[in-house]
Amino acid sequence: MYANVFLLTTPQGRLLVDTGTVVHAPYFLRLLRSFRPDALLITHAHPDHSGNAFLAARAGLSVLAHPLEHPALVGQVHDLPYPAGRPGVGRLVSRAHPKVPAPALRAALPGQDVLGWEVVHLPGHTAGQIGLRRGGVLIAADAVMGSADGAHLPRAAYNHDHAQAVATLNTMAGMDLREIWPGHGSVLTAAQVQARAGRVDR
Ligand SMILES: [Zn+2]
Ligand SMILES: [Zn+2]
Repeated sequence: MYANVFLLTTPQGRLLVDTGTVVHAPYFLRLLRSFRPDALLITHAHPDHSGNAFLAARAGLSVLAHPLEHPALVGQVHDLPYPAGRPGVGRLVSRAHPKVPAPALRAALPGQDVLGWEVVHLPGHTAGQIGLRRGGVLIAADAVMGSADGAHLPRAAYNHDHAQAVATLNTMAGMDLREIWPGHGSVLTAAQVQARAGRVDR
């Protein structure tokens, strides 16, 4: 399933969130030209979210991400969780993706304001996964997924720490939110996330 890319415009500026995979590089380049973002924020280092970050860096943009994601973004580590149970293939997939030059990377830390959005730590799927919150909206990355029948967690095999991912889902369910914008699939209501948090195995 394709990863969502978010184009956020606030009085403070224009922020692009995530990039899609490198397969979509031509679309991403067009997006950079038409949206002219002030910065790119990467929710986590998986290549479906960060695959074109190198193009943003090449265009002179700062690439913001949690420091725990920086080693994967620059190519110091290659530990993709998919395909499930095949870490060797995951390493090859990771190595095949162009990486972000370290000088373009900036730290995005929990509580930090990025162009009017607050950085929120959503660990579990990866250790340094972050979302963004503004008013009643949370951009949730892969902390939750949207589908026709509501909210889902990524399969345990795709989570760096599944117990932590469950805890993060519960944290999100307790936030005062109106909408949750997931990294995959369509917009979720707070009630849908709360319903999943109530059902999930602990
Ligand atoms: Zn992911
Ligand atoms: Zn994803």
